[in-house]
Amino acid sequence: MIKRYPTRKIKVGNVEIGGDAPISVQSMTFSKTKNINDTLEQINRLYFAGADIVRVAVLDEEDANALKEIKEKSPLPIIADIHFNYKLGLKAAEVVDGLRINPGNIGGKERVKEIVKACKARNIPIRIGVNAGSLEEHLENKYGQTPKAMVESALWHIKFLEDLDFLDIKVSLKASDVQRTVEAYRMLRPLVDYPFHLGVTEAGTKFHATIKSAAAFGALLLDGIGDTLRVSITGELEEEIRVGKAILKDLGLSKEGVNIISCPTCGRIEVDLPPIVEAVEEATKDIKKPLNLAVMGCVVNAIGEAKEADVAIACGKGYGLIIKKGEIIGKYKEDELLDRFLEEVKKESE
Ligand code: SF4
Repeated sequence: MIKRYPTRKIKVGNVEIGGDAPISVQSMTFSKTKNINDTLEQINRLYFAGADIVRVAVLDEEDANALKEIKEKSPLPIIADIHFNYKLGLKAAEVVDGLRINPGNIGGKERVKEIVKACKARNIPIRIGVNAGSLEEHLENKYGQTPKAMVESALWHIKFLEDLDFLDIKVSLKASDVQRTVEAYRMLRPLVDYPFHLGVTEAGTKFHATIKSAAAFGALLLDGIGDTLRVSITGELEEEIRVGKAILKDLGLSKEGVNIISCPTCGRIEVDLPPIVEAVEEATKDIKKPLNLAVMGCVVNAIGEAKEADVAIACGKGYGLIIKKGEIIGKYKEDELLDRFLEEVKKESE
């Protein structure tokens, strides 16, 4: 059993983060936010992929002006991501559900005060987002791009907000490699009770980002660390959500969706199994109900191995079996086996 670290609960729109709230999965659009249609198109794609929250970059006045319409039409809570420019922060705070802005970098206490006032007026939280690659100069000079510097930076930004009695905070500590990311989150965890947004930044392509995120999030989530997460994959939207949700499911932190057990294949196999597994994965990717599906390459071991599955398929030479909860329900020819299996899965998913 994973025992989650007890954190303060905050809300981004209608999504709770921290405390006993389910771990949420989020992503970020890569459109120019000022291109409202493009941004909304990406937000909708994320929504249909199962995202809980979306973040948009606000680089200038035009981006900030677009937020009102985006917020009105978005099915997901919106976080505005702002660097350095407190005026954009103030404008965004009038409409969005949360800000990502580092209070130490917006030009002094008075400006932080104004941002805090705007956030308090609408009860919206601030994420302090520390990245190893963009640390404050004095910390980087002192410690280099290390977990220690990341944690000091986070504490420094947190203090700006706490001094103004603002505790509606979440924190991220991202590095582009697994070790520093994990170490930084572990180091900060006992020092504050704010919820953590997990991420490995600039994680790379789908292949590398999936591995890095699974390794880092796996280590942290098994320690009970992490309240919301983003898998960063170069140029991907839906895949970020799919991978994030799969990590939570495989760690037992989310029940939603299908778990596919497929055999690794061996010399006993009589069919071309990989395309069958891929077809099952594709056909079942939108199922929300928790289901265990097994796709086995031969009949010899399948019945025993598929016992735990809600629906299993055991392929054989020219024919195969469909097994439901350990009971064989039919023997079918190879060319109809997959369709029959998917029919049974559909019935179970309703
Ligand atoms: Fe080999 Fe059959 Fe086991 Fe697949 S299910 S690994 S084909 S023995």
